[in-house]
Amino acid sequence: MWAIIGTWRMSYEAIQNVSKKLKNNEIGADEAAVLAIAEIEDFPYFKSVGYGGLPNEEMVVELDAAFMNGNDYSFGAVMAIKDYKNPIKVAYELSKQYTNCVLVGEGAEKFAHKNGFERKNMLSDRAIIHYKKRVKEMETELKPYIGHDTVGMCVLDNNQKIVSATSTSGLFMKKSGRVGDSAIIGSGFYADSEVGACTATGLGEDLMKGCISYEVVSLMRQGKTVQESCEIALNKLNDKLLEKAKKVGDLSIVAIDKNGNFGCATNIDNFSFVYASDKEEAKVYLVEKENNKTTFKLASQEWLDDYLKTRMAKLEL
Ligand code: ASP
Repeated sequence: MWAIIGTWRMSYEAIQNVSKKLKNNEIGADEAAVLAIAEIEDFPYFKSVGYGGLPNEEMVVELDAAFMNGNDYSFGAVMAIKDYKNPIKVAYELSKQYTNCVLVGEGAEKFAHKNGFERKNMLSDRAIIHYKKRVKEMETELKPYIGHDTVGMCVLDNNQKIVSATSTSGLFMKKSGRVGDSAIIGSGFYADSEVGACTATGLGEDLMKGCISYEVVSLMRQGKTVQESCEIALNKLNDKLLEKAKKVGDLSIVAIDKNGNFGCATNIDNFSFVYASDKEEAKVYLVEKENNKTTFKLASQEWLDDYLKTRMAKLEL
C-alpha cells in the first residue's frame, strides 16, 4: 500500500512521475518526496518554489525547504538559502544529522557547498518581470504579499514509512531573512509513520500560530479520521484568529493517514491538491469551503488545460 499527496496543481506532473516508481517499488517514501519536490523546484514557470520563485523585497530569491522522516522523527530544514538549485535535497541531507539539522542563510549555503550540492542563480528573468510589475502595482494599491504557494508533500510507501516535505520561496516581497511555516517542524510539515502526516500552505505567520501540521497528526492519533482532523484543526485556527486577532490569512492543509487515506481543509476558494495511491492514479482536486465545511471535486479537463496556459503565458511589464 502506498499513497502520495501534494499541495496545489503544481504537484501534478511530479506526482505522476514518482507514482510509477512507488508502484514498482523502485523507490521509497524519502526518494519519492525528494524527487517530486526537486522536479517542481526545477520547473521555471512555478513562481513560488525553487528556480523562478519570486524574490524578496531586495529582489533576492531566498528559499525555505524541509524534510521529516516519520519512522524516527528525524528532520532537516534550510531557511533563507540562496543560490542552490534544490533546497529540498539539502534539507534531506540535513535530516540525516542528529544535531545541526536546521541551518539558515550563510550556514545552510556553506553546508550545501561542502556537500557538493549544485549551485544556481535562482532568479529567473520571469521573476524579475514579476518583481518590477509588483513594484509598480504597489505604487497604487496592491499589497506586496499577494502571490505565494508552497509545495508540500506527504508520502506513505509500501514499507509503511511516512514522510513529509516542503519547499517554497515564501511570501513574494518578504523582508530579507523572513522565514514562514514551511521550514518549521510541526507548522509546515509533520510526519509519524504510526499515525500519518500533514503539510500546510498559506500565510506562514498565521499557520505557525496553530502548529497546524502537528495538530492534525495529534488529532489523528486521538482517533479522528484524517478528514475530520484537517477540518477541526483548520477551523479552530481560523476561528480563533478571527476572534482574537480579528483577521486571518490564507490557510490550507493536506494530510494522509497510515492507511493512505487523504484529508484536506482550507479557508480560501482556490486551493487545489494532487493525490495518488495504489488504488487510484494521480488526480487534481479542487477544494471549496462552505460554512466551515470543506468539499472537494475533481478538476475538469478544461480547468487543467487553462492552468498551464495561464501559467506559461507571455509576461510583459
Ligand atoms: N507558507 C508559505 C510561507 O509563509 C507560503 C505559502 O505557502 O504560500 O512562507
